[in-house]
Amino acid sequence: MNTQKEKKKRLFGTNGVRGVIGETMTPDLVLGIGAALGSMRRGRIAVGRDTRTSGEALVHAVKAGLLMCGCDVLDLGILPTPALQYIVRDRCEAGAMITASHNPPEYNGVKIIDTDGTEMADEEIILLEERLFNRQYDVAAWDGVGSETIAHHQVEEYIRAIVDYFPEQIGAGMTVVVDPGSGPAAITTPEILSRMGCRVYSINARIDGTFPGRMPEPTVEGLAGLSEMVLSTGADFGVAHDGDADRAVFIDDKGRYVEENHEFALIEEYICRRRKGVIVTPVSTSRLIQDVAIQHGCTVDYTPVGSIYAARRMLEMIGEGVEVVFGGEGNGGLIYPDHQFCRDGGMTAAMMVAVLASEPDRKLSKLLDGMPAYHLIKDKLINVQASDIISRLEAAFLHETLDRTDGIKIIRDRSWALVRASGTEPMVRILVESEGEGDAEAFYREIRQAIGRV
Ligand code: MG
Repeated sequence: MNTQKEKKKRLFGTNGVRGVIGETMTPDLVLGIGAALGSMRRGRIAVGRDTRTSGEALVHAVKAGLLMCGCDVLDLGILPTPALQYIVRDRCEAGAMITASHNPPEYNGVKIIDTDGTEMADEEIILLEERLFNRQYDVAAWDGVGSETIAHHQVEEYIRAIVDYFPEQIGAGMTVVVDPGSGPAAITTPEILSRMGCRVYSINARIDGTFPGRMPEPTVEGLAGLSEMVLSTGADFGVAHDGDADRAVFIDDKGRYVEENHEFALIEEYICRRRKGVIVTPVSTSRLIQDVAIQHGCTVDYTPVGSIYAARRMLEMIGEGVEVVFGGEGNGGLIYPDHQFCRDGGMTAAMMVAVLASEPDRKLSKLLDGMPAYHLIKDKLINVQASDIISRLEAAFLHETLDRTDGIKIIRDRSWALVRASGTEPMVRILVESEGEGDAEAFYREIRQAIGRV
């Protein structure tokens, strides 16, 4: 698969390139990325950003690079990454999103979107990096430079696409609280849900790159305010997004944070009841996803870790005539193939309305209480050789069921352990999941013993 090639990416990680402003993330770098992209893709390129304070400066840099290489720029302003992806797929040759997703405010970065609306594939990113490192740009002459169109209103197309996907007023009688975390979903998710008929309250809904209410990563602690507001308004649920709103996480009607694999399983169940087919997800997702699929006569196809691999596999399989019904990661990043091939937080918020509307008593807490709980242990080893650790594990667990899609996954009945090199940092990640806490701990100890001293 792509893991061999991924190793050759030097600057871009699993979700674009990111860095701290004034250190590794500079207008200089972003100008180069714009020029490299503008040399690879012709025609109209969409540009957008999240709400970070450095966003405006970096948008100007990426636009300069694109324009000087002869591309026309469609400036979409502040909007969620999936909104930009939706508009690229319909109207542009490519896109550049200035965002650092869930990272703290001092970070920023770039995600490159290709013609089909998915994040650019590894092979193409490697070519883009080569151009960047060699400063190999196809700079246009005076009569060939591009021009810019400001289209900040165009996000409306994305809002409408989601609202129109569902029966009219499906949310009537439902109360929801939205926490966009001062990010770009402030202009989309409350609007989407209210057009679906919901009564909408919001918190942290003013666009602000200093993130005064909470940090861009939605955590249990960060969402305490949302949880309180769900309780005080008697809402059916609360929804929060990460910094670029490709992910959505939920608070149930009792004010409890909904674990993201449970969120995945809940929406999966809703979809699989209505359609049979394949669910595509990385090897790091909970066994729960497979349980739900099996229960409803569906199957799961596993990919390397990273939403781009799931999205591209979904596209590939559909191209081969396979019925793919759903996909995504166990972190609130879910992909709806009828809508588009990328994680979409706004669509996920809307989907939760549809899930509850299909339940007689509309209680999210009750749906969750009926779900089996798995126990997950997460650990990481810093400054180690991934390949060395993986070969030790391969030797130690030779006679067990092994999956080498990404690193090594040891599957034992309903338990599994995954050991893989991180796609974003120099470390090895360990995940162990079992039905019981004791089983997970015992399995984890076995893994650590097999790895030995590092
Ligand atoms: Mg994100």
